[in-house]
Amino acid sequence: MKTDLKTPLKEIVLHGRPTSPGVAIGSAFQFHAPKINLNELKVKSSNIAEELDFFANAILKVAQQLESSQKASEQQYGNQFSEIFESQKAFLKDPVLIKEIEEEIRNSGYGAAFVVSKILADKGDYFINLESAYFRDRAYDILDLKQQLIHALLGIDTDYRLDKPSIVVAEMLSPSDTVQFNRNFILGFLTDKGGENSHAAILARGLRIPAVVYGHSLSRLIMPGSQLILDGFNGGIIINPTPKTIAHYEEIQKEHQRFEHQLLKELELPSQTKDGTPVHLLANIEFAHEINDVKQNHAEGVGLFRTESMFIEKRSLPSEEEQFTVYRQIAEQLAPSPATIRTIDLGGDKFLENYSQDDELNPFLGWRAIRFCLDEPEIFKTQLRAILRAALYGNIHILIPMVSSVNEIIRTKELIAEAGDELLRKGVEFKADLPLGIMIETPAAAIMAEELATYVDFFSIGTNDLTQYVLAIDRTNDKVSAAYTTFNPAVLKFIAHTIKAGTEHKKPVTLCGEFAANPLAIPLLLGMELRNFSMNPHYIAETKKIVRSVDLQACKQLYADIQTLHTADAIEEKCRALIKANVQNLEFLS
Ligand code: PEP
Ligand code: MG
Repeated sequence: MKTDLKTPLKEIVLHGRPTSPGVAIGSAFQFHAPKINLNELKVKSSNIAEELDFFANAILKVAQQLESSQKASEQQYGNQFSEIFESQKAFLKDPVLIKEIEEEIRNSGYGAAFVVSKILADKGDYFINLESAYFRDRAYDILDLKQQLIHALLGIDTDYRLDKPSIVVAEMLSPSDTVQFNRNFILGFLTDKGGENSHAAILARGLRIPAVVYGHSLSRLIMPGSQLILDGFNGGIIINPTPKTIAHYEEIQKEHQRFEHQLLKELELPSQTKDGTPVHLLANIEFAHEINDVKQNHAEGVGLFRTESMFIEKRSLPSEEEQFTVYRQIAEQLAPSPATIRTIDLGGDKFLENYSQDDELNPFLGWRAIRFCLDEPEIFKTQLRAILRAALYGNIHILIPMVSSVNEIIRTKELIAEAGDELLRKGVEFKADLPLGIMIETPAAAIMAEELATYVDFFSIGTNDLTQYVLAIDRTNDKVSAAYTTFNPAVLKFIAHTIKAGTEHKKPVTLCGEFAANPLAIPLLLGMELRNFSMNPHYIAETKKIVRSVDLQACKQLYADIQTLHTADAIEEKCRALIKANVQNLEFLS
């Protein structure tokens, strides 16, 4: 195997697991994550001059790197990517920016790397939230520049530095790794490890980057620069593809584009089953700029805003003001449609520098989400104050992740009231009494759904976690991923029970895990009486197509039929038969 992989030009075809759809064709970029802790970098006042020198040298170093990357790119691709390098060089020379960073180093007591990280993350956020695609691309360039400067300052080999379109090949990617690369150059992700429902995979789907997990050690055997094809529909990995194979996959890329184009044309149609039952399709987002995708895909609102991405991207705690600006923007742009803001779900596979969650033996069973927030009330209340203030500008709902007991809801309500009192005392305007919902993603919450319904206004079923906790299968561990399936009848019972309890108590139930956009699952969930689905906005078009192609009576019959089936495979087969009978062009459905 080793020698084969290193023999140039011999085509090698391997099969992995697709975790984000699409086809990527390009050269391999080897990535190995550096460990960085920026919070340790507070400096003594006597060292400020040294930090300013480090910063000046880092600018010179990155400027040289950009120059050589641009030359290499122009030799290979002409000037099609020159704009990226030009805009980065212009930023690096901007005297206003340099002065801002230098002053912050002088005044804040933080080291240059921390200051660069904070200021450039803010600038990136600003650009990324502008309407125009041109400015969003510039935001990616700024965030990439931030990474390059930090690495130059810390003397780290710049592993994140993509300077041409590449397929990133890594042993594993964390959510924070996933967002560090320059989006303008990432073609795809090929990793040895990683679950389909890991947060990194969800992010890749959100960013529309094809991804495949091989499941065994492969990343270090692939030579940097080797030609690769990733088939994010079927899991194909082709190393050193022949021109014929490349042509074949280019054709699939084109067909996929045509299929998506066709789906987009149908987006204007009402979201209802064949017999006219309305079905609400909402969006899951990680970043404020995705509101554009929410609107373009005609989502009826945001069913899940995963706010922790703001924290991990910044690698620090965003202030109340920073959070308020983001939440307000989302609420305002969506109003009067709902903007469901989930309070931070840190822990599990999403860590914040300076908090020792990654020392835990079982982080998914540990200091995560609401548990972390209730132990860190100041962090939690900062977020709650920002949410309450932003609620004046739209229709914000608060969603609490990973609830497993009534006590957590009671304590959360107390902290929401305290956050309101604090604002009141400061004379800051806010809106009280926002709808409060909980994620149903622990078996404890699902089994107690009737009781919990009396404490909250709505439920959102998180099948990604519910599946891992019901089956005791880590969602990120691919050694056990074959058994990780939400079609397992045990998981389905918890889902059905929650929908029934919510419906009986007249508390709206949404499903916001990846299962909501699984084409085979949609009719089954409709049969269980689910009417609110929240998903990555890019999946709304195909979900609407499925909803419009099925009859509610057939969905109810499907749910009745699976009661007698005891294995996930048999249930999935039954669901597939219904979809096959009703929907064409299945090959491109996610
Ligand atoms: C879930 O667990 O299904 C969910 C939507 O939350 P997350 O994927 O962010 O854990
Ligand atoms: Mg979850």
